Amino acid sequence: MLIHIRELFNHYDSSIAYPAFNTQNLETTLGIIQASNELDTPVIVATSEGTAAYAGLETIAAIVKTAACRSKAGVVLHFDHGKDIRHLERAIELGYSSVMIDHSHLPFEENARDTRRMVELAHAKGVWVQGEIGRMRGTEDWVSVSEAQALLTEPDDAFRFYWATGVDTLACSVGTVHGIIKMRGGVKPHVDIPRIRAIHDRVKIPLVLHGASGVDPDTIHLAIAGGISIINIDTELRMAFSNALRASAEIDPREIDPRRIMKPVAQAVKEVAMAKIRQFGGGRHRAAA
Ligand SMILES: [Zn+2]
Repeated sequence: MLIHIRELFNHYDSSIAYPAFNTQNLETTLGIIQASNELDTPVIVATSEGTAAYAGLETIAAIVKTAACRSKAGVVLHFDHGKDIRHLERAIELGYSSVMIDHSHLPFEENARDTRRMVELAHAKGVWVQGEIGRMRGTEDWVSVSEAQALLTEPDDAFRFYWATGVDTLACSVGTVHGIIKMRGGVKPHVDIPRIRAIHDRVKIPLVLHGASGVDPDTIHLAIAGGISIINIDTELRMAFSNALRASAEIDPREIDPRRIMKPVAQAVKEVAMAKIRQFGGGRHRAAA
């Protein structure tokens, strides 16, 4: 079933983090939800502006909402890295319980002003808002920040931003990197654990780690112990999808049944999603409904 993000935190066990998996299509969504079912752990399924442009926001939202009917543990629908408030308002109309406004490219005051406005709009409809303070390296759909502009989140800024905006969850820049480049050895993510702890000491809302594909399990455990509650995974699912699709298409060049070609692809996504859920401490607990 589709659940509100707040249900994840009603009886939150801080030794785990919930995965927020990005999806672009049906098969990725099916793989994520099958993993969630297998491990009886709720998941956040995130869609981006890029996916909305590709498939139509109504289409991708309908796919996730419909597939969520098969979910036993619960699926949260989240809009990731929203730049345009109108897109986020549309997402709220479509049943998203969590939307991220990412105006982290703007100066602090403008980011806080825009985020505050989004919080007022969303809270009037009972929807949670994720804000972002600090900037990350790498590329995620239309989010592009050069290494030179990278700026880690200052704990005092996170505190001021939280009080200025009233956000429900907060994405912080603590050294991880968006996109594929790190997986190819281009940029080594260094996760600043003391910084996570310092932000968590000041800001008592769920903290979100973006760009976490490729971060080693020990670092993930330290990040969760330091106060991270949600971990975004996109690149590793894309890699599982693409590699499985190439392999599947090559098995029999005469195969023309898309279901036969795509079934191993959803399975590959499921396996990576299960590994991530376990790595983040899931599979042992479930959120109280
Ligand atoms: Zn992100």
